[in-house]
Order: sequence, then C-alpha cells, then structure tokens
Amino acid sequence: MVSRRPRRRSIRLEAGSVTHVGRIRDVNQDDVVYTDDVFVVADGMGGHRGGEVASTVATVAVVEGFVGPDRAALVRAVRQANRAVLQRAAEDPDLSGMGTTLCVLAVVDGPGGQGGPDALAVVNIGDSRVYRLDAGGLVRVSDDHSLVADLVRAGELTAEEAAVHPQRNILTRALGIEADPTVDSWELSPARGDRYLLCSDGLFNELGDARIAELLGDGPAQEVASRLVAEAVAEGGHDNVTVLVVEVVEGPEVPSGGRPPIPEARPERATGPVRSRPAGDDPRATVRTTVGSVAAVVIAVALVLSLYARQGWFIGDDEGDVAVFRGRASGILWFDPAFVEGGDLRVALLDDSTRAAVVETIPVGTLDEARRLIEGFRTHLRDPAPRDPDPSDPDSSDQ
Ligand code: MG
Repeated sequence: MVSRRPRRRSIRLEAGSVTHVGRIRDVNQDDVVYTDDVFVVADGMGGHRGGEVASTVATVAVVEGFVGPDRAALVRAVRQANRAVLQRAAEDPDLSGMGTTLCVLAVVDGPGGQGGPDALAVVNIGDSRVYRLDAGGLVRVSDDHSLVADLVRAGELTAEEAAVHPQRNILTRALGIEADPTVDSWELSPARGDRYLLCSDGLFNELGDARIAELLGDGPAQEVASRLVAEAVAEGGHDNVTVLVVEVVEGPEVPSGGRPPIPEARPERATGPVRSRPAGDDPRATVRTTVGSVAAVVIAVALVLSLYARQGWFIGDDEGDVAVFRGRASGILWFDPAFVEGGDLRVALLDDSTRAAVVETIPVGTLDEARRLIEGFRTHLRDPAPRDPDPSDPDSSDQ
C-alpha cells in the first residue's frame, strides 16, 4: 500500500470518467484509473488479451508508482509502467507484443517546491490526448506520437488530411515496445474553473474539437464524461472510447494578465537504435523512431513508412501474369509494392473465382504461402492448359 503525501494541497480537483467498448469491437482495450491527484487514460494494443492487459498494467503501475513530489517523479512512474508492461509480456507468451498509449495528469509541487502553490504535471506517450478548456477555449496540451502527426509536423499532410488518413492508427511511440522510451512532459499552472480532458482516440476520431469544447464546458464532470462518450458512440463508435474529465474546483484565480500559452513538451529522450515491431494482429503497428529536427522527422517518417509499406506479401496481376509482390496492395504514399516473382502462369487461364481474387489481390503471410497458393491455382485452371500457351502444341500441360 502506497501512502500518499500527507500534505495540504492548494488546489482541489473533481473528476468523472466513462469507458465504452464502442459499436464495432468485441473487447475494450482502453483503461481509465484515477485517485484524488493522479488521473490516467491508456489505450492498449496487441492480439488476444494483450491490449487489455497492457493498458491495465500501465494505469495501475502509474497510480501506484507515483508518490510525488514533482514532474520528474511522474515521468519516473511512467517509465516504471513501461517496465511493468514489458515484464508482463515476457512472462506470458500470449501477451508478447502488447503495448499501450498512456496519458496522465497529476498534482505536483509547483516551482516553489513543497509549501508553495501546486502545479499540474502531464506526461504523454502515444496518441491518447490531453486537452484543457479554459476561458480562452479548448487547447490541446499533448502531441500525438503517430505517423500522421509526424507527417503534419513535417508539412507533408494537413491536420484535416491526418484526421481521416487510413494510416492514422500507426504509432511512433508507445509503452511496452522498448526498454527506455521517450515520453513528453509538461508542467502547467492550475486555475479555478479549468477543465482537463484525457481521452483515447475513439473520442476525437468521432467528434471534432468544436463539439468536444461545447460538451466539455457544460455540466458536472461525470455528466460531461457520459455525454462525450455517448455522442462518440452514436457517431459511429468505431473504436473503444474513453473519457476522463478533471475540473479544478478549488485553486487560484486566472491571473489578471491572462494565461501563458501551453509550453512546448519537454521530451525525456531516450537513445537507441531505430527498430520496429508490428503489434500482433492488431491493425496498429508501433514503430520506434528517434526524432530531433525537421530533417530527422522527414528521415524517420520515410523509414517508418517504408517499414510499414513493405510488411506483407500479396498475389496479384502483373500485366496478365500471376505474380507475387512484397508490400501492400494499395501502396502507401510514395512506396509502391515491389514485384518479386511470376511470369509463368497467365491470369486468363485461372478459373473465374480465382481470377477475380488475383485481380483483386490476395494478401499472404509469406513468400512460401504465395508459392503454395499459386501451385494450387494450377490444379483447377479453366481448361487443362499449357503453362506457356502454344497453339501448335495443344497437349503440353503442366498437370
Ligand atoms: Mg483507440
């Protein structure tokens, strides 16, 4: 049992939360946990039970591991959560490859140390988000660690394009991927009436900022959380939806000169080789990149894209021949799939259903699987047909 700091706080927070499986998925891999002064949302990923376990292990580890007093201690608690996820995955092969996003808000000692005014610390990794609604409107505190967010920062995509991009689920950072991940952190001055929103992507992929701001400002925290989730589910509920609303109910007034802008994130950098690992059969992949400048962003994005674009194999039509390709049938941005082999079986010779499937493209896991399938195609061609059709030799056949 971890005892909390027995000290008087200069602020008091009230919170409400809801998590919902949504309308498409079978399992809720999000998790939300909070105490009087620590508030956490996580969105897990990984096949089987992995995502659920990863998000729960991480939220519990942060809440138990954070005993103050400051922002640096909160970062340490998140790093501890990362180790907890990795350790759990190492203990159970079913959980191998699991990971999770995590965002956390906590009351910490302000710049004056203990006894001075309190501050709020935020730590984030992944693409769950922290927003603040104050008198000036809704502002986003956290930055997404995702492929499309990197592309927006590099000027390759607009925010509007990113919001609907088919690869917007690809993360560049998460917990459970490597020993020492880079996490972002902030220290903010609280003011009475501020409302913070911590949420998974299932919320903001359904609702725009204007609607989020409208709902967030209206009613007690728990009611607000319920309405936000209900509306995201009604709008489609394509993913799990989790919302945690935290209001500063006692604290200093907004300074008469207004608020300073939200500061830039303080990235707690880790160093290490770039590596990638698809997260089981989850539609997301997580890829680690080290990013330091615009040039590094562009290089990292190109690398991430090429790793992602080259995952997988498929059978398709190469100018009338059945062929095996490396990559993804749709291609991704400027990466086209690469021809691997083919040329000895004409698509026109395939039976109708096989021909349609090949033209549509058939994704496969390995080159061997592709070769086995193509050998199978030869056993039910439209007619006993020659491998290399030659009208002068109607008996030649590869059967
Ligand atoms: Mg999600």
